[in-house]
Amino acid sequence: MSRSRRPSRAIRALGATSGRASTGILKSPAEIDAMAASGAVLARAHDAMARAVAVGVTTGELDAIAEQTIRDAGAEPAFKGYQGFPATICPSINNEVVHAIPGAYALVDGDLISIDCGAVLDGWVSDSARTYVVGTRNTEAIRLSAVTRQALAAGIAAAQVGRCLGDIGNAVQTTVEAAGFSCVESLVGHGVGRSMHEPPNVPNFGVPGTGEVLVEGLVIAIEPMVNIGGPDVMLGPDGWTVTTKDGTLSAHWEHTVAITAAGPRILTAAVDGTT
Ligand code: MG
Ligand code: MG
Repeated sequence: MSRSRRPSRAIRALGATSGRASTGILKSPAEIDAMAASGAVLARAHDAMARAVAVGVTTGELDAIAEQTIRDAGAEPAFKGYQGFPATICPSINNEVVHAIPGAYALVDGDLISIDCGAVLDGWVSDSARTYVVGTRNTEAIRLSAVTRQALAAGIAAAQVGRCLGDIGNAVQTTVEAAGFSCVESLVGHGVGRSMHEPPNVPNFGVPGTGEVLVEGLVIAIEPMVNIGGPDVMLGPDGWTVTTKDGTLSAHWEHTVAITAAGPRILTAAVDGTT
């Protein structure tokens, strides 16, 4: 899940302060290993859903697959019950950005579906999202998802000890804007640990060399939410589902990432190592 945050102008002002100390709750190497175990369970749930995404499959069926996989591993869904959220996954279709509720909707050819999911194992939360496009005909959606995934990779590559949150945001933003797309600004990534949402916020835009310094032991969810059209979003009548304001497609890729002396460690990579 992503975090709502203050208006973007305020974030930009905050970002202008360079080299600020980390507000994150830092994790020991053993704690990062425990978070990786949580992330491995979550990756298994995503892998199972990846095999199931097809024309005719409902978002409720995908939710059941994720919940079963997580519980079979002795973990619990992180989203279910979180601030009253009723399900294990957030399956956001087409113009839906994040936080949609699963149900009877059956996928059709050309649909873009972003699936956000979280797991809790031994008290440690992991959080990640992947986007799929059903079939091969929706080339615009396929390109949007590919660019969003590239932006996540660029953000992760910048997640190095001694660099700043603004470096991550800038890497994401630069990748997205070079493709002609927009980053959502009112929803951001976040610290992860015993709680799903810890400090700091991790915006998908920023100025290099600004914002909090990245330190060893910080664990963050980096999660570009990328729209084909403008960056503005709105909240739907169910009180959860966020959609693009202009109705354009939106994609979402996310990993939980530990900052270590050896570089960024992706804790939610697929079982085969794919990120
Ligand atoms: Mg998430
Ligand atoms: Mg998240």
